[in-house]
Amino acid sequence: MSQNGLHAIIGVATRKWMPHKEWLLLGAVLGNMAPDLDNLAVAYATLTGGDTHGLHRTFTHSVFTVIAMLVLFYVVAAATRNQRWNNFGIGFGIGILMHILVDLIIWFNGVEIFWPLGGEVNFWAGFTVPAWLNIILETGEFLAFGLYFLLLISLSRKHNTDVARQGSAKTLAYAEFVLFVIFAALFFASGATGLAYTIFGALYLLSLIIAMAVTIKMKQTVESL
Ligand SMILES: [Zn+2]
Repeated sequence: MSQNGLHAIIGVATRKWMPHKEWLLLGAVLGNMAPDLDNLAVAYATLTGGDTHGLHRTFTHSVFTVIAMLVLFYVVAAATRNQRWNNFGIGFGIGILMHILVDLIIWFNGVEIFWPLGGEVNFWAGFTVPAWLNIILETGEFLAFGLYFLLLISLSRKHNTDVARQGSAKTLAYAEFVLFVIFAALFFASGATGLAYTIFGALYLLSLIIAMAVTIKMKQTVESL
């Protein structure tokens, strides 16, 4: 797992240089987040007793997925005669590429960027993550989501957009911080295993889906000038 909230924050940071086209920045932020939805496949395989190998950082972290998304949203734009879908697709492709790059540089794992052709790229091959660091990195998912919600709130205040959503975003931010503290304490006390780890995984996936939904609902804030 890579801290998805951090990917989202990096996505929002592209507002500084992205051209101002409707849904382009929204696509970029969601593209920075979406590759980690492959954890849903991992969860499904785990629950059904299937093989989890080769599910994470493969099919959603590939340059071919980027091309497929560009084509898909180009077709959707043409079919619906809505140019904004094309903007979205371009942003989404850029976002996925950024996600792959960030994963390669600041994460301690490999990424199969040419999936399904194979050939994992790993800048960290000789590095083993110690258990204590792993706990901080994994529970740090909640911390990063909380910070992402705070960023949305601060943009929303600054630009006076999605004002009605500030309250619920704040509640979500605090919930994420509480989860971070609880699971960090729990994992340091009794290890990141068993039922606690399963619950952690479920709450992580829930947080990811909620964060993407909030991004869509606050798209005016994300794209505010
Ligand atoms: Zn990733």
